[in-house]
Order: sequence, then structure tokens, then C-alpha cells
Amino acid sequence: MNDTFGRTVDYLRISITDRCNERCLYCMPEGYKGWEATRDHLSADEIIRVVRVAAGLGFRKFRLTGGEPLVRNDLLQIVGEMKKIPGVEVIGLSTNATRLATLARPLHEAGVRTVNISLDALDPKVYRQITGGDVDAVIAGIRAAIVAGFERVKLNCVLMRGVNEQEIWPLVLFAAEHGLPLRLIELMPLTRTDVLTDKNFLPIGEAMQLLSQRDELVPQPDRKLGHGPAKYYQLKQTGSLVGFIGALTNLHFCESCNKMRLTADGKIRPCLGNHGEIDLRDALRAGSDDETLKNLFLEAFRQKPLEHQFRENYQPVRPMTAIGG
Ligand code: SAM
Repeated sequence: MNDTFGRTVDYLRISITDRCNERCLYCMPEGYKGWEATRDHLSADEIIRVVRVAAGLGFRKFRLTGGEPLVRNDLLQIVGEMKKIPGVEVIGLSTNATRLATLARPLHEAGVRTVNISLDALDPKVYRQITGGDVDAVIAGIRAAIVAGFERVKLNCVLMRGVNEQEIWPLVLFAAEHGLPLRLIELMPLTRTDVLTDKNFLPIGEAMQLLSQRDELVPQPDRKLGHGPAKYYQLKQTGSLVGFIGALTNLHFCESCNKMRLTADGKIRPCLGNHGEIDLRDALRAGSDDETLKNLFLEAFRQKPLEHQFRENYQPVRPMTAIGG
């Protein structure tokens, strides 16, 4: 399916819960109280029905996210059912990896093909300061993911000045050692917290400069790893592949946007950085037929904006944990 601006949109990110077992400063900080009632979350059957309708409309890539998708008990069942749906080509997962050490193999067997893992620091103290969690569990999860044999495992680091810029180089070395691409992501205004300030914002251009003091960055303009908006560079000495995701400073960021989101409470969100949402859950629970659900997706295609509004004094309403990263 094409949107109004001629972009092919075939990638749906599905948040299966707004709950998370970590408390990242930039996402769902300590003391967060905005939980949705779990009865408002789509059930496994409702998620599967939405995926079937979406696949019928041409969506081909699906990513389960949250919150933290691994805290949801029926995750394996959801993946197993999704895999059977005609048209579903790729099932990916975004996770903090804290529970991946035990779940990597069953998830791979159930049908997950690609895994994105958040890793904002390697230093245990810095990792805890950012996420409230234990980096050793994450590293065990990353190793389990490598052993499980997923088609692709990527590491994601959100950049914060004064918090983790000194972690970027160790992360590059870690990524090189494990043969994993690392993506450096600009902080987006997605939750109401005092860390989302200009002072904490570290543009990808500056991260590139920091890295170029250590190694030569060789552009990889034709490198497409998966379905995201990262621009990739190979580091000449270390061999690391580093992607830069500049949602704020890359003015062409939205030009090739190919995705929509489904929130845990069943709203289609055509753009992460725009408050517009279309409710599917009421239609699902009112017993609507597939045609009605399809029409709601078509409305979402019509409403998908040309660009996000992050650069326009954007005020977050629903935090990232509720929308799905
Ligand atoms: N819990 C999973 C995880 O840790 O990957 C999945 C959900 S998380 C919301 C998905 C991604 O969104 C993570 O890579 C996270 O770092 C990113 N994210 C969350 N809040 C962000 C923000 N304010 N700016 C940029 N990225 C953010």
C-alpha cells in the first residue's frame, strides 16, 4: 500500500504491552504511573486478527515491541500464530534482552527472525543509571541471541550528552567483537521528563565526529539492514558497522518512512511524531467485520503525515512505552 505521498508502507510495529521491567530515563522513568489497564490491551487473538487484516492489505514486516514484549506471557503463542498468516514475511522483536537468555531459543523456534536489542552502555553503573537494570543480564541475552541463530541481531543505543557519550566507543568495540551492527539513535521528545532537554541532546553528527577521532568512517550508502531509517558507516580499523538514526537532525528522515504502529491498546498510529491515532480496538470489540478493520487501516494511510512534528516544539502526550518503540 502507498500513502498519500507515494511511500510504500509495509511495516507494522506492534506494541504488545506498555509494561516494562526497566525504567529508561528517556522512555518510562522511575515513578511513571501512566499505565493502561491490561483489559485495554489487545488480546493475543485480537493481535492476530489485526495482523491478518494488515497482511491482507500488503503489510509484510512486523515487529513486536512495547514496553518490553518479553514480559508478556503469551508472546510465544502470538509469534507462532503470526508465522502461519499468509503474507507475513518477517517477524522481528525489539527487546531490552534482560529475559532473552532463556527466551532466545524458543523465540527463534517460534518464528522470530530478527532482534533489535537496546544497549545504552556497557559500564554497569552507567547502564543502571539509564535503565535501572543489570547489564550482565543483557549481555547474557545478547550472547543467547547470537547462539540461537536469528537472521539478524542489532544493538540500539540512545545518545545522551553527559550520560553515555563516553560509552559509545566501548559499545563500538563490543559490537565489532560480536559481529553485530550498532545503531546510535538521537533522543526524541517522547516522554515528559527532565532528561529531554537541549542540554542532553547529542546529535548524530557529533557522535560521528567522536568516532572519527578513533577510526575512519566509510559511508555505506547502499547498505540496508532491515527496514529502518539508519545511515550506515563501516569503521575501517575495528570493522564495526554503525548506523546513525537522526530523527531530529536528518531533514530527510521521513522521506522513506515505511511504517505504522499499533499501540498496545489497539490504536493505529500512522507516525511516531504526530499525535494522530485511529482506534481499532472498539471496532474489534464491537464484532466488526474485516472490511471495517481494513477501512480503518485505509484511513490511517490517508492520515499518515509527510513528516513528524518533533522539530516543532512537540509536546509528548503518550510516552514511547505506550506507543511502542
Ligand atoms: N523494551 C524494548 C527495548 O528496550 O528495545 C522495546 C521498546 S523500546 C520503547 C524501543 C526502542 O525505543 C528502544 O531502542 C529505545 O531505546 C527507544 N526509545 C525509547 N524512548 C526513546 C526516546 N525518547 N528517544 C529515542 N529512542 C527512544
